Formats: sequence, C-alpha cells, structure tokens
Amino acid sequence: MRIINQLTSSDGAVKRVHELSDGNTVESVVIPHKTKTNICVSSQVGCRRGCVFCATGKRFVRNLTPDEILGQIDVPVDSVVFMGMGEPLDNPDIIEAVERVKKEKGIPSRKIAVSTCGIIDKMDLLLPTKVNISISLNATDDNTRSRLMPINHKFNLTALKEKMFELDSKIPGRRRLLIEYVLIKGVNDSLSDAERFSELVPKKSLINLIPLNSISEDYEAPDKPAVEAFKAELMKQGFACFVREPRGKDVRAACGMLSSASRME
Ligand code: SF4
Repeated sequence: MRIINQLTSSDGAVKRVHELSDGNTVESVVIPHKTKTNICVSSQVGCRRGCVFCATGKRFVRNLTPDEILGQIDVPVDSVVFMGMGEPLDNPDIIEAVERVKKEKGIPSRKIAVSTCGIIDKMDLLLPTKVNISISLNATDDNTRSRLMPINHKFNLTALKEKMFELDSKIPGRRRLLIEYVLIKGVNDSLSDAERFSELVPKKSLINLIPLNSISEDYEAPDKPAVEAFKAELMKQGFACFVREPRGKDVRAACGMLSSASRME
C-alpha cells in the first residue's frame, strides 16, 4: 500500500489517503499534540453500519487485513485509536491487528482505543487485549438512537446499558469506559437528553462530547452555549466529561468525515 494523497490541516492534523493493492483507498489521520502524536486508523473500506451523520457509512466494500491496518502506522506515534473508517468489531481480524500494534509498533494497551457503535455480542473480545473500549452512544432514547444509528434496531439501549455496566465491572483498575456522544442540534442535544445519562451510563465512564462535524445540510452542530449546557448537566451528574475539539476539519479529517472519496480531492 502507498500514500497517494496527504492533506495538512491548519491545526496540524494530517489526513493521508492510502491506496491498497486492489485499488481501494482508506484514510488515516496523524494528530500531533503538544508532546505526543496520535494516529486514527481505519479498519474497513467503508462501513456497513450506516450511521446517518457519518461519511464512511454510505457504502461498504471490504474488511482490511491486519497488514493493511498496521501499514497505516508508518510514522512514530504514541497512541493509536481505531476510530477511522469502519466498525472495528465487524472485522474478524481486529484482535490480531490490535495485538500486532502492541507487539510490532510497541504501543501499550493503555494507549490504544477501539471504538464501536455498539456491537454488543463482540465487545467481550476486546477484554483480553486490555485496550480502552470506546462506545458511540449518541442518543439516550431508543427512537433517536435508531434514527441516527441503525445498529440500535438490533441492540437497543436496554441491551447496550446492560453491556456497558458489565464491561465497567470487568475492565481493570482505574480504566474507564470511553463514551462518545456526537452532539447534533435539535436532535440529541437537549437537557432532557443529558438528564438520561445517569440512568444509562456507568458513573466511572469518561464522556467525550463531539459537536457534529457536518457532512450534509440535514444535520448541524449545536451552538457553543448548548454544548456547554449539555456538558454542565453531565458534570452535575458526576461524570468526567470533555468536549473534543475537532482536529483536521478543514481537510475533512475530523470524526465522521472520512470517506474513500478523498482520492479525488
Ligand atoms: S460512525 Fe462508525 S459505525 Fe457508524 S457508519 Fe461511521 S464508521 Fe460505521
């Protein structure tokens, strides 16, 4: 595989387009921080999960091999997140890829995070790897979550809640479940949406609020005061909560913006 395009954001994030041996393309994003560098890697060409706010979920082509996943990590990095294109737990080789990242790239498990839209029956596979488990929640009622994320028709919030509490009790020591919540104006950003967190999510979890990086006119990000009010409600409930600043938005490298159409950009 080779890099056929590279776009550097004004904030320093670098989106790279990797061409695979069969001509398909996937993207990775190298994100420099003050003293460390993080990389976000893809696990599939496209994704079959079809979340409405995500550019990747518009089509699915195939899973990546472990070699193709490791091939994206071609620069020195301190941490690796499986949050690029694809649903990692839909790729049967994901555990092999994670173990090889640890062994061959020297990244400790605590510096690796695997994100899932909520494939409940496969989450246990991650426990022996000891990596951080990140769950995309994105709504606190079934109607809204089903509208945003088709996976909710198969594994609804009752099932997801049960799994989150089970994982919370099984993950080692000070580790926390990571909960991702993409905030969408008028859809899932009200205070009543926030108020339902405490009955759904284990209190020890670390919540990442991600104002939507919009890919269409159908959905937009909330205004800053709405984001701050949502965060304040979660903190009032006792959650550790951060608003994730978008990185690489100007080169379509931010969360939910990756798609293999970038070959043409
Ligand atoms: S958000 Fe994740 S699971 Fe959903 S369509 Fe996008 S890549 Fe797939």
